Parts: sequence; structure tokens; C-alpha cells
Amino acid sequence: MLENKNQSRTSLSELGEFGLIDHLTEHFKITKETTIKGVGDDAAILKFPDEQVVVTTDLLIEGVHFDLSYMPLKHLGYKAVMVNLSDVYAMNANASQITVSIAVSNRFPLEALEDLYAGIQAACVNYKVDLVGGDTTSSQVGLVISVTAIGHCVADDIVKRSGAQVNDLLVVTGDVGAAYMGLQVLEREKEVFKVNPKNQPDLEQYSYIVERQLKPEARKDIKPLLKELGVKATAMIDVSDGLSSEILHLCKQSNVGCNLYEDKIPLDPQVISVCEEFKLDSTTIALSGGEDYELLFTIAQADFPKIKANPNFSIIGHMTEEKEGMHLITRGNTKIPLIARGWNAMSDNE
Ligand code: ADP
Ligand code: MG
Repeated sequence: MLENKNQSRTSLSELGEFGLIDHLTEHFKITKETTIKGVGDDAAILKFPDEQVVVTTDLLIEGVHFDLSYMPLKHLGYKAVMVNLSDVYAMNANASQITVSIAVSNRFPLEALEDLYAGIQAACVNYKVDLVGGDTTSSQVGLVISVTAIGHCVADDIVKRSGAQVNDLLVVTGDVGAAYMGLQVLEREKEVFKVNPKNQPDLEQYSYIVERQLKPEARKDIKPLLKELGVKATAMIDVSDGLSSEILHLCKQSNVGCNLYEDKIPLDPQVISVCEEFKLDSTTIALSGGEDYELLFTIAQADFPKIKANPNFSIIGHMTEEKEGMHLITRGNTKIPLIARGWNAMSDNE
């Protein structure tokens, strides 16, 4: 559906496995002092003096997590890295290395993997992380891509999900719900395209939400920003499965409850208008959509003046005693229980 500009097709078997790895990784440069040895030996060698190391992995499967009919491979590569870096930043750590493993069928030409790795490389350059290894194997079915990200942080700066206290304020970065609505638009265009393949989609008016779906950016900027403001988050998580399910994680792991205020949830105007077009409730989308890759965190009330005027942050609620439970306070001032309708990897109807 989206035009593929890379038209030539070189069979993967022409290079062999080692030739392929060399070809795909040759343009990656090692830039971190913490990388002693990258690609090329049996294992990478890293060195982190006096810091704790954080490690996180995500697995993305064609047909489950992405659809190549509207996800260009370059974007997929970029997004696969973002999904992982977001988890590193959610620990308040600095990301420094990634490994990338792929399982690929011979339906993909070399040029497709070049596109995938161009996206991975763009992410490495933009976020200053080194590609230090991976694995390459064949797949009988679709494309599988797994990224592991490695980060580091002095022990005192690490922020877990479990540190939220009663009366802490709940804060989210950026806005939420856009990536999910971008996906709805892309799915709709795909159906239109199936009926009439000559119909190239005009996504101009949906540019923000489509970009949030196809090219998310992880919040590398939040750690230094909080430091500059003199704020230490008490608990933190990234918003991958939807705001409500992330809030429930913070509450459960911190043994607190929460009041979330509907009117405080940050929504982009494009999300509001596209929700109207699709006849969807924008609050439901914000709570359950997911793939926002924003950071959700709690701070002590005393830190409120330090962040209240900052456009990166929205204060959306506060933590309560655990026994009070988790609630959404609606615009009409009714209190309804917050439930996780976040995207469930095990359900087959989504
Ligand atoms: P081994 O057989 O010991 O697993 P490989 O031949 O799979 O070694 O890998 C050789 C080197 O290339 C290693 O440094 C490995 O981390 C790296 N590598 C393999 N596949 C990839 C990939 N898809 N992307 C980046 N590096 C890779
Ligand atoms: Mg290997």
C-alpha cells in the first residue's frame, strides 16, 4: 500500500549468513566508551564502572505486532529500537547498547533487510546507542525481530515501578491515544486499498497520529529534564499497553490506590477529531490505546511547583491509600473503577 522505492531484489542466499551479517552491520559505528567490543566475536564486551546495568528485551512478530502492508521496514526497524529504549528510560537509566535478532524467510530480498537496518541505524544515531550484536536465522513464516537494549545508571537514580507513595502526584509526558488512532486510520486505508489498489491513501490530515504509530520516539529527554528541574520520580513506567493498565501496574507494585482525572488526560486535537470521525470515546482510547511510549511517573507533592508550568508534563491524578482502589473521576464528577483494558498480548481478537 505504501510505495516501496527500493525495487531491486537480491536473494538472501546469494550472501550466506556471514556475508549478510557483515553487509547489514558494516555501516554501524561504535561510539560509546562502555562498548569494549561490538559485533564480530562470540559475544560483545561491555564495561560499566560503578553503575548498575539495566537490560530489557522485546519480541515483535509479523502479523501479531506489525503489518508490513502499511508499516515500511525502515520504520519497523526504528520502532523496534524505540520500544526497547523506552523501557530503559522508564528505569530512569541511560541507554547505551542494543542487540538485534531477526528470523527472516526468503520471501524477503536483501533490499528489505537493508531498509530494516537503515531504520535501526537511524535510531542508533539519533539516540546514541551502539549495535553490539544479535542473531540471524531463517523463518518459515513471517518476519520476527527481537531487540535487547542495555542501559546504565548510578544505583540511587534508578526509578522502579514500586516506589509510589500515598498523596504522590501522577504525571504523564506528552499526550496519549494518538498511536492507536493512527493505527485505526492505517487499518481503514488498508481495507480501501484492498478494494481499489490504485487508490493511494491521503494521510495528510492524519499526519500526527500516523507518525505516532509508525515513528514513535522514546523519551530520552525526560531523565535530564527531571534532573535539571531537581525532581526525582518516586515510581515510573512507560506507556506501551495503555494508560490505565500502566497506572494499575504502578498501583499494584507500590501498594497504593489512585484517582485519575478525565479532564487532565492530555490529548492532541487530532486525536479528538479522529475519535469523533470513528465514533470512539477519546478517553477510552487514551486509557486503552497503547503504544504511546510516553513516561508515566509519580512525584512527591512538594515537587509540584517545579513541574507545574512545564509543557512536557501533565499532572493527571494522585495516589491514594491502597484500600481506596483505583478510580477515574469523570468530567461529570462521577467516580468509576479503573480497569485495565490495555492491549493483551494473549487475546486473539485484537
Ligand atoms: P554465533 O554463531 O557465535 O552465534 P553469529 O555468527 O550468529 O555467531 O554472529 C556473529 C557476530 O555477528 C556476533 O557478534 C553476533 O552478535 C553478530 N550478529 C549476528 N546476527 C546479527 C544481527 N542480525 N545484527 C547484528 N549483529 C549480529
Ligand atoms: Mg548466532
